[in-house]
Amino acid sequence: MINRIKLSTVTTYKFGGYCENFIELNSKEDLNHLKNLNNFNKIFILGKGSNVAFSDKGYEGTVVRSNLNDINYNSEKGEIKVEAGYYLPDLARFYKKHDLENAEFLIGIPGSVGGAVKMNAGAYENEFGDIVKDVQTYNLESRKFEIFSSEEMEFSYRKSKDLKNRIVISVNLKALPGNPNKINKKLKSYIRYRKRTQPAGIYNAGSVFKNGDDYSAGELIDKAGLKGYSVDGVRVSEKHANFFIAPKGSKATSLYNLVNYVKEKVETQQGVSLEKEILFIGDFE
Ligand SMILES: Cc1cc2nc3c(=O)[nH]c(=O)nc-3n(C[C@H](O)[C@H](O)[C@H](O)COP(=O)(O)OP(=O)(O)OC[C@H]3O[C@@H](n4cnc5c(N)ncnc54)[C@H](O)[C@@H]3O)c2cc1C
Repeated sequence: MINRIKLSTVTTYKFGGYCENFIELNSKEDLNHLKNLNNFNKIFILGKGSNVAFSDKGYEGTVVRSNLNDINYNSEKGEIKVEAGYYLPDLARFYKKHDLENAEFLIGIPGSVGGAVKMNAGAYENEFGDIVKDVQTYNLESRKFEIFSSEEMEFSYRKSKDLKNRIVISVNLKALPGNPNKINKKLKSYIRYRKRTQPAGIYNAGSVFKNGDDYSAGELIDKAGLKGYSVDGVRVSEKHANFFIAPKGSKATSLYNLVNYVKEKVETQQGVSLEKEILFIGDFE
């Protein structure tokens, strides 16, 4: 089903204008709606929108969101098969329910499995790629399903293989039995840590810039004296300098200008060129 949608309703930042072609996949049959797509430069695949800022002018092309949400644990194979729309904190809870370890770090990351594959989401020295066995995608050009092994996905820091017009459909994950007390303890400490160090998961998209091998982006922004600095209401969080908060009613353009301002200040003051982690989609000029 193709709908007109205000993009502010489908991202954690809660801004963005209209998209006239918003396609939701609620079953694999819905992939048929994608058969007539041909301008592959103008397709954006959306997960939970927790790493994205859409332009206030909207998005001229097509946005496709996968709501496929099945999950299945096969204890004999030591494997979980999960579809792309599954919410990461729910995945952490699913692992806990079955006394499985190594997914605790996902508890505070408000994205989807598809987004976690693409971004190689991570925290506390864990990354999504560490638990991936293989990834099933749908190729919009050839209209075929494909499978990529974990190695073929080329996971690295907040990055994976360029999927080139492929939609992540489902993922097979490693499911290792663990000690329930340890799993529980980890989950609790991660939740506490986030509450203490980061703003709540609304009106932001997590870390704005990537960390470097030898620096923390947040520390550099803090050192530059930019905590609390704002552009038209969008501000660098006082709690964590690598989170930028855009209160209700603010504009994506203000975030864009703030991000560029901070990048320039850090570069001139400290000689480090920060790389954006959040994605600006649409026209920002
Ligand atoms: C409060 C908060 C805390 C956060 N903490 C962390 C953290 O600790 N670690 C971390 O890594 N990130 C963190 N993030 C950022 C974000 O949650 C992750 O990057 C997450 O993986 C994005 O998933 P998503 O489903 O929201 O993807 P989106 O933001 O919707 O999209 C991100 C990218 O994934 C692609 N994509 C999404 N779904 C698919 C699919 N099915 N097929 C192909 N491509 C797809 C999109 O095209 C886009 O390129 C945080 C965000 C917030 C708001």
